[in-house]
Amino acid sequence: MGISIALAGNPNSGKTTMFNALTGSAQYVGNRPGVTVEHTTGRLKTHKDVDLVDLPGIYSLSPYTAEEVVSRDYLLDEHPDAIINLVDASNIERNLYLTTQLCEVGFPVIIALNMIDVIQKNGDRIDIPKLSKLLGCEIVETSALKETGLEILCEKAVRLAKTKKHFHGICRFSPMIEDTLRKIQELILPFCEEVHMRWYTIKVFERDERVLSSLKLSPEIRNTIDHLIARCERYYDDESDSIIINERYIWITNIISKCVVRHKAGTTPAEKVDNIMTNRIFALPLFILIMCGVYYISIQLVGNITTEWMETLVAWFGSGVNAFLSSVGTAEWLNALIVDGIISGVGAVLTFIPQLMILFLFLALLEDCGYMARIAFIMDRIFRKFGLSGKSFIPLLVASGCGVPGIMSCRTIESETDRKITVMVTTFVPCGAKLPIIALISGGIFGNSALIAISVYFIGILMVFMSGVILKKTRSFASEPAPFVMEMPAYHLPSTKNVALHVWDDVRAFVVKAGTVIFVGSGIIWLLSNFSFAFQLVDSSESMLAYIGRAIAPVFAPLGFGHWEATVATLTGIVAKENIVSSLNILYTFDSPAFLQNIFTAPGAYAFLIFNMLCSPCVAAIAAISKEMGSTKDTLFAIAYQTIVAYAVALIIYQFGSLLGGASFGAGSIAAALVLLLSLWLLFRPAHNKSK
Ligand code: GDP
Ligand code: MG
Repeated sequence: MGISIALAGNPNSGKTTMFNALTGSAQYVGNRPGVTVEHTTGRLKTHKDVDLVDLPGIYSLSPYTAEEVVSRDYLLDEHPDAIINLVDASNIERNLYLTTQLCEVGFPVIIALNMIDVIQKNGDRIDIPKLSKLLGCEIVETSALKETGLEILCEKAVRLAKTKKHFHGICRFSPMIEDTLRKIQELILPFCEEVHMRWYTIKVFERDERVLSSLKLSPEIRNTIDHLIARCERYYDDESDSIIINERYIWITNIISKCVVRHKAGTTPAEKVDNIMTNRIFALPLFILIMCGVYYISIQLVGNITTEWMETLVAWFGSGVNAFLSSVGTAEWLNALIVDGIISGVGAVLTFIPQLMILFLFLALLEDCGYMARIAFIMDRIFRKFGLSGKSFIPLLVASGCGVPGIMSCRTIESETDRKITVMVTTFVPCGAKLPIIALISGGIFGNSALIAISVYFIGILMVFMSGVILKKTRSFASEPAPFVMEMPAYHLPSTKNVALHVWDDVRAFVVKAGTVIFVGSGIIWLLSNFSFAFQLVDSSESMLAYIGRAIAPVFAPLGFGHWEATVATLTGIVAKENIVSSLNILYTFDSPAFLQNIFTAPGAYAFLIFNMLCSPCVAAIAAISKEMGSTKDTLFAIAYQTIVAYAVALIIYQFGSLLGGASFGAGSIAAALVLLLSLWLLFRPAHNKSK
């Protein structure tokens, strides 16, 4: 049997960087907990017979998050031979909290005191020999980033693993609690593996449900234990799990005071920068400025140039393929399917890649240097009021460029409910592909008023916040706002390797996922809009799509655009939102947008616009939603929710807009009023309480 060593530590302590350095693999580095919810295994470069297991980043071994459950199940079930505990030296107190728990599981622990380069730079001093003695484990100073101390760490860890010693923790609590723990231990000893004894004893004291049910204690023993715990709880006037948290911190604080001498806060260059960046007054304007810069450069500056290149490239490729297919005598319809359907459909998406690469590059730089973590922290104050977390902010921001990376960046959000809600609302923010529709409607109907564009963004953001409040009140999404635990990583120069990996990962995901889906989708839409049900090549008004459009159109009549053309345009928007404008153009055949005045009333046009902004996003974004949700049911729920919201808002807009324009009160107006009342009720009703 080979040896296995587990790598455990807080999020952002450098675990993945360390894992990659030790095993020579290229796992995704970054503050994206979603990525490492499962553990990854690799072989040590220096010892080919030793497996290294990268556990998800955790703050404790409590059973509250998916990451914690994965980690503790791994430790208890898989029995690693040793644990390397990564401790971020620049954040030592918080990190040692996990250490005290890891030491209790029973396996030998060696501490890698990581980010030691940060400590050396900022002038903190840590008495390592003394700390090692007090913690009862060996400590190796490392820098995963600079790859120092890693060989010694491997050497010592492997030696430790070979001893197969048991280790029962060193963190000791107040006499009364230790006394109780001793009694509990005697009672439960026959029920658990000896190696995990200390761990089980403390978990039983904490009334950890998962542990209690796994032990299968007899009711009498449960009862005796309950009495013992209750006595402590009365004495401390606190719940047993809080007592333990408290005791751990007392123990840690005591050790820190003996071994760590801090430099004066606010004196290093990084801290000075930090003080400005997170300043209550300047933080937000600075952030807006930085983001405007990023968008200006990637979308406007780079985008304008590269989009044209890419369009030319795609057109050139298309005509090349066209010429080739004609020369080999391919059927005309197949030729058109490939060139007008698939190549131009896929091409329309690929055109965005250069600007997205630049955008991803900037975002990766901002994330890797530690800035994004700070922004989420600042935004948390605002977003918390709406049931979302500060980390929901980044996806929304990214989504104003494109929903796909926006949805992907939801991975930064630890709390599962917050993450799911954010995935659901991200595409309410108008993405780049929706801008042409805004331009078309405001130009054709509203005399190019800028108010239209502004109101679209405003409604999008309003829906994000309202959804946060409404969904948090439902049973499936009810959760306490997760405490904002996010390590503030020290500012550092971004590593080329990390940034390159980020950009590559994002771009590849975009090309692969969007490419495959768009590829199929474009082909299907082309076929449907060019063939009749009898599979004859026909005019588009006789096509299958036209029939489907006519069948669905009545659904949109209460929203003011119940014509088949507008319906089909909306449907093609699901392949890519860019399609909506071109579909309208082809199906209504107009030269000037003003023509739309013959088709839509003003409220109808505005409702059409808003519906298309809010409803189900394009297939690429749906694919991203499904990837992040990880379940078909949740994905369908998200799409349905978005479409229902879109329908409700468009209904209210069209019906009340028409009333203001002098239309008479009717069934539609009543429906709109009811929908409005229902929304208000959902918004203001009392929250569902999960503990009841
Ligand atoms: P994980 O969340 O524990 O997997 O941490 P990561 O490996 O993703 O690292 C988080 C951040 O810390 C990254 O930006 C790394 O470049 C940085 N980092 C990791 N190890 C060190 C180190 O020893 N020194 C410094 N200065 N930065 C580090
Ligand atoms: Mg990681």
